Amino acid sequence: MTKQSGRILAAVLAGLLLTGCSLFKGADQNDPDPVDPNAGTGIEEPAGSVDPVTPPEGDPADAVDPSGTAEETPTEGQPDASANDPGALTTPELPTPVVPDPGTSNPSEGTEAGDGLHVTDIRLDKYIVAVEVGKSDMPLVTMLPSTALDVGEIWTSDDTAVASVSTWGKITGISPGECRVTVRSTDNPDVKAVVEVMVVESTDVIHVKQISLDKYETTIHVGLMDMPWVTMYPTNAKDKGEIWTSDDTAVATVDQYGRITGVGPGTCTVTVRSKDNQDVTAKITVHVKIGEDAKEPTYIDGTLIVNRTYGLPRTYNPGVSAEAKAALDELIAGASEDGLEFWVESGFRSYDQQLSLYNTYVGREGKDAADRYSARPGHSEHQSGLAFDLNSFDDNFDQTPEGKWLAAHAWEYGFTLRYPKDKEDITGFMYEPWHVRYIGKTLAQKLHDSGQVLEEYFDITSVYAD
Ligand SMILES: [Zn+2]
Repeated sequence: MTKQSGRILAAVLAGLLLTGCSLFKGADQNDPDPVDPNAGTGIEEPAGSVDPVTPPEGDPADAVDPSGTAEETPTEGQPDASANDPGALTTPELPTPVVPDPGTSNPSEGTEAGDGLHVTDIRLDKYIVAVEVGKSDMPLVTMLPSTALDVGEIWTSDDTAVASVSTWGKITGISPGECRVTVRSTDNPDVKAVVEVMVVESTDVIHVKQISLDKYETTIHVGLMDMPWVTMYPTNAKDKGEIWTSDDTAVATVDQYGRITGVGPGTCTVTVRSKDNQDVTAKITVHVKIGEDAKEPTYIDGTLIVNRTYGLPRTYNPGVSAEAKAALDELIAGASEDGLEFWVESGFRSYDQQLSLYNTYVGREGKDAADRYSARPGHSEHQSGLAFDLNSFDDNFDQTPEGKWLAAHAWEYGFTLRYPKDKEDITGFMYEPWHVRYIGKTLAQKLHDSGQVLEEYFDITSVYAD
């Protein structure tokens, strides 16, 4: 899986919905895998919907080509619709989030001037580039902190016979060979970043020189998955095929797309190798634990709680609650009187359906992204039989007459909009204007009047144990 295609999926998914809800209109709630990433739903601008990637916990240098770039670690990839990526879509080049890289510069540098006004670090979106003679490339530069006043750049090439660099960082191939291009801060010339430049003839095949992952360590439960993002450098290498292996398949297996599945408790190493250049590898340490399912459902003051902290047993399988369904029918009737139409996109989902759905999302975007919008098995409110996804898995549902009506009136029928905007940190899930949870009219009114979500009202957390 490449970073780029995953990002696009993140954007697609973010634009559609998402807490453990099945995705598309008409999706059968009994289908544990109703998602078709190529279904032609609008691809939205992802810049605001993708979190910056967590920095690798391991030493990224371990996974890097030892040819002298340990000082600079690649962080982000360029657009790449890899042929062996089943989720690949094409899209214009996207802005890339900044990935903190502990190895990029001396972190103590500038701490004296850590007033936020001076540059203390420089990040690039790529640290290895290959350009043809006469062609150009330009790494994206981020000066940190973002509040620095002077973000001027000084660019130099250590061999201008091979590649030149303009004052704004445009690198142009002059003659075949290799050189290094350095960018320094005008504000603090001790702070720099280096790009390895290969200049090739237009007829040359560009080979993979380095692989980076978005993380070098992960912890997953038995039966669940993770999938690191892979970026191969130079990003214009011809063959970016991946070969994945696990050194202990009793602990975790990995498929040809880099989807790692926990098999048994323990730790193993999963390796990705360049098909093109099998000396180039990156490794991720995989810890597998046995997930602890809840023994009993959790009730607080008679209200069933399902979130990241409070799960449901695998055997909890009530189907749609008759009381909740009756209340929903009233809601639908009430809206109908106002000339609006509601329908259920997704209602009850069993533990096993959620397991399958969650793994599907992880297999497309990785665990970190999937965790934002898809509940892990046992932690989806849909397993309670008390939650419904109505009409549309689109953030802009809140701009439609139905979405506005739902936000204004759901409480009158005993429902709460469970995952409001700007409460992701509290609920543990992204904004879902379509997801309602039946809690009864008394409590629904209290939440409506106070503007609280269940976690706030009961003063409880929503955090996975691991
Ligand atoms: Zn939902």
